[in-house]
Amino acid sequence: MLQTGIVLDARYQDHNPGPGHPERAERIGTLLSRFASYERDGLKRFEPRRATHEEIALVHDTSLIGQVAASAGLEAAAFDADTRVSAQSYETALLATGGLLTLLDAVMEGEVDNGFALVRPPGHHAERNRAMGFCLFNSVAVGAQYLRERFGLSRILVMDWDLHHGNGTQHSFYDDPGVLYLSTHQYPYYPGTGAAEEAGQGSGEGYTVNLPLSAGWGDAAIVPLFEEVIDPICRQFQPEFVLISAGFDAHARDPLGGLTVTAEGFTALARILLRVARDQAQGRCVALLEGGYDLEGLETSVIHVLDEMAGGRLDHPLPAYERQGLLTNVRAVQQRHWELPAAG
Ligand SMILES: [Zn+2]
Repeated sequence: MLQTGIVLDARYQDHNPGPGHPERAERIGTLLSRFASYERDGLKRFEPRRATHEEIALVHDTSLIGQVAASAGLEAAAFDADTRVSAQSYETALLATGGLLTLLDAVMEGEVDNGFALVRPPGHHAERNRAMGFCLFNSVAVGAQYLRERFGLSRILVMDWDLHHGNGTQHSFYDDPGVLYLSTHQYPYYPGTGAAEEAGQGSGEGYTVNLPLSAGWGDAAIVPLFEEVIDPICRQFQPEFVLISAGFDAHARDPLGGLTVTAEGFTALARILLRVARDQAQGRCVALLEGGYDLEGLETSVIHVLDEMAGGRLDHPLPAYERQGLLTNVRAVQQRHWELPAAG
């Protein structure tokens, strides 16, 4: 039995992007209700701390931090058409990134084996100097940089299985071989980035891996893709820490996307990544909630991934999927030659 840390706090409901917005407080509310009655051995709840400006600045320009900070106390403000904030959004965003850092500390200090930061707002679209796509600060990018600066790690894997491409995370490490960024996402779709040809630059060439998926892809395509393509790439890299940008908007019930992943599919993706963490990263793996806008799909998927993190089933076989039809898509992706440059 592994020890799993979670961060989940009522204050994550305080950011309000406006009426009718899919990235709404109820996403946290439904998880709080579920966890009020969810008991499992090995689960440890952590109080999140606020990230400091210095930590946010590991990835972001101080001008962006200033812009978000300036919105504090305002009833409403907008960074773009999708990215609106309210009086408490700045505080909530600091607490979201800080919630991830709380769990990174807990894992690195050996208090728990792995963890899941159940926070909002999400982060992976936030660019160095720009809030966008519901995201204010890029928590997972800050977390990757934090692991290097604070703990001296040199190889961080960021797996982003959100429906959308994590443009901000990709750009944070595009020329950086110390962070391997892998993304599966519906394509073409918001935000428009994430073509397979985007593969890093300079000494980071080969350390960005985009696996764009067609609408309609579900478990039978994405699980084999993780087994046959993503797992070997991760193992070539030999990560010292596995971060997951865990959005659940690729779920079949989600209103924003056209992928058809189920909670059982997310279980399989988690198992594959947790095995990589176990074999190469001393088990160190922390997931961060990104998107996921159907409350039932979100709640069920989060519980499935957390159950997997408990570790008792890591050696169980993955479900056998009927791959006919969609397997040709997997093969098309595999025909690309994903060979990482020699570590240096
Ligand atoms: Zn998303």
